[in-house]
Amino acid sequence: MNKTLVFTIIFLGMILKSMGSDKADVKMENREDIIHKIIKSAMADSSAWNRLAYMCDTYGPRLAGSEGLNKAIDWVYREMKKDGLSNVHKEKVMVPKWVRGHEKCEMLEPRYAELPILGIGGSIGTPKEGITAPILVVHSFDDLKLKKDQAKGKIVVFNLPWASYGANVQYRFRGAFAAAEAGAVASLFRSASPVGFRNPHTGMMGQYPDSLPKTPHAALSMEDANMLERLFDTGHAPVIRLYMEAETMPDAESFNVMSEIPGTDKPDDIIAMGGHSDSWDVGTGAHDDGGGMIATWQALKILKDLGIQPKKTIRAVMWVNEENGVRGGKAYAEAHKDEKHSLVFEFDSGVFPPSGIGFTSTDSTLLQEIKKFEPYLKKIGDIDVHNGGGGVDIGPMMKLGTNGMSLSTKDDGKYFWFHHSPSDTPDNVNPEDLNKCVAAIAVAIYLYSELP
Ligand SMILES: [Zn+2]
Repeated sequence: MNKTLVFTIIFLGMILKSMGSDKADVKMENREDIIHKIIKSAMADSSAWNRLAYMCDTYGPRLAGSEGLNKAIDWVYREMKKDGLSNVHKEKVMVPKWVRGHEKCEMLEPRYAELPILGIGGSIGTPKEGITAPILVVHSFDDLKLKKDQAKGKIVVFNLPWASYGANVQYRFRGAFAAAEAGAVASLFRSASPVGFRNPHTGMMGQYPDSLPKTPHAALSMEDANMLERLFDTGHAPVIRLYMEAETMPDAESFNVMSEIPGTDKPDDIIAMGGHSDSWDVGTGAHDDGGGMIATWQALKILKDLGIQPKKTIRAVMWVNEENGVRGGKAYAEAHKDEKHSLVFEFDSGVFPPSGIGFTSTDSTLLQEIKKFEPYLKKIGDIDVHNGGGGVDIGPMMKLGTNGMSLSTKDDGKYFWFHHSPSDTPDNVNPEDLNKCVAAIAVAIYLYSELP
């Protein structure tokens, strides 16, 4: 072998080696670079918040079966098309339709006062003349059992201090049944919220059991529940007239709406992420879950606008009817159960600074891979990766064995100030927090799509 040839071979070897290492460096740089661009893009403007405010202000509350909800869904569909996302379409879902109508709670004795209330989703209404009865104040289901002989013909008022959402919401969910069992004619309860501001909070109740008479059920503000208790303790039980027009109508047509970035290597492998389009019929569902829904959609838009071509298909799904039926989540699972999903992701925890990515998988080794997302997520805020992700809408898919992920936020207890109440409006959503949530979702989903 002559010298020239030897040098040539050595030289070529050096070039190839440097090309190889360059390639690896470029790949490393690319990931850092892409993450940087995603975060910068998410934080750059207020388009997510502007869309949230536009939807809330223009279409109003979005309870399942309402015109406002379907108009909002049509708007999402049109905007997703404008965004240039792929496979934008709606899938029909029949949803329950509960209508509040007018409602009024008047204290007749010992003085006249109108007390703000919110009937509970699924409750029946009162007769046309209303229900007039003295109240019985109790602090718990056990307390009601002790005072059962005093409950007949009364309006039971459950006044219990705030402990946690899980504990307090029991009185929203089954307070009416306990009251009916004790012989009461209606029930009121202190809203499941840590604060008052004379702001009642609604939500869903359980289905009336066939074994009991159906009685109307409504939420009071903290202040009025406390006032009723103080008056009750003087020995002169206040007399209440309760009037509610609440009614359950036949199921109505609505839709899940979705869009995608098709995967390059594995288009049939789906990462589905989203929030729910519906809200309660008071307030405009800015935290619950307009913000969650728009954040996941915006995350998809950012990935698309940056020209990122994910290996797997990333799909944004705006599930309908999370609040009082989960028909959207169930219909999605039924319609898409035969498609391979490597992940379902949900954001429905209120728009506050993102604090965690929860992950659930039957494959225990996968969490270690997701843990590697942490340094990237820390560029956005104090976000950890932990075991345990899930949500109401992705529940049906997770039941089928799909990996589940969710974003949690650090609300400092404030979420339940607004939750299911007239004050759940865009004003109470901080645009920067929303952008951080968008960034966290986009980063987590991008990194997940890159997993082998
Ligand atoms: Zn929600």
